[in-house]
Amino acid sequence: MPELPEVETVVRTLNRLVVGKQIDDVRVLLNRIIQAPREPEQFSGALKGQTIHGIERRGKFIRFLLDDLVLVSHLRMEGRYGVYQEDEPLEKHTHVIFHFTDGTELRYRDVRQFGTMHIFAAGEEWSQPPLHKLGLEPLDESFTLKAFRERIAGRTTKIKPLLLNQEYVAGLGNIYVDEALFRSGIHPERTAESLTRKETERLHEAIVHTLREAVDAGGSSIKSYVNGQGEMGMFQQQLSAYGRKGIPCPQCGTLIEKTVLGGRGTHFCPRCQKPKRVRRRVPSGPPRTDL
Ligand SMILES: [Zn+2]
Repeated sequence: MPELPEVETVVRTLNRLVVGKQIDDVRVLLNRIIQAPREPEQFSGALKGQTIHGIERRGKFIRFLLDDLVLVSHLRMEGRYGVYQEDEPLEKHTHVIFHFTDGTELRYRDVRQFGTMHIFAAGEEWSQPPLHKLGLEPLDESFTLKAFRERIAGRTTKIKPLLLNQEYVAGLGNIYVDEALFRSGIHPERTAESLTRKETERLHEAIVHTLREAVDAGGSSIKSYVNGQGEMGMFQQQLSAYGRKGIPCPQCGTLIEKTVLGGRGTHFCPRCQKPKRVRRRVPSGPPRTDL
């Protein structure tokens, strides 16, 4: 599933390719992708004549900023965009086609068919699903250590499922949660409330650094991710824990283990990421008496 860095790469690519283009017509070939308005004819009709002024990302969502509308798109498992000339043959699994006045097309393909598209009047997208409950935006300057601390404070949830929940931090998925927990030396089954101040600080830093490096590398290419121009991301070569079961930990050489947590494959180093903090007790011998 594309996570924040992959979606960011798609958004940057789309900004290069389709900003300024005017939508001439929209063809919906698979109705279930279209969530609002429900009727594909209404969806197409609303978009006709609108110009794309910019494309932005919020969490894993893509926002197409139009004249007075916003199109919110989620790629989910396998969704991808590509720009084509109108006479190029349709590839398999093409579900939505945005035809522009200049004779090019933005095509949405999705093998798994889990992707979604919603249209809102500009500004109204923030108060409704799917964007209304999104948590902190990890690459925004508002993602401070203080904000992160307050968001997860007192939560008895295990830290990995908490980070996967988009209502706390938006944009993280299985790959980058495993990486961030590895980098901060935190076992995925620790509860949020059990983290020390220092650990929370390390985790905050690891989330930002992991995502930034991945964005700089153009997103991960694990499985079938390709950005809007057909470029493969390069980040998978830098992963330290995710997908590396049985491979030595880059920090200590212990073999990376894989377990299942909350239904998700979870990779960690059993030595660098201890399940619980080991508290060293000062041996309590008989009370010393000064003679
Ligand atoms: Zn290790």
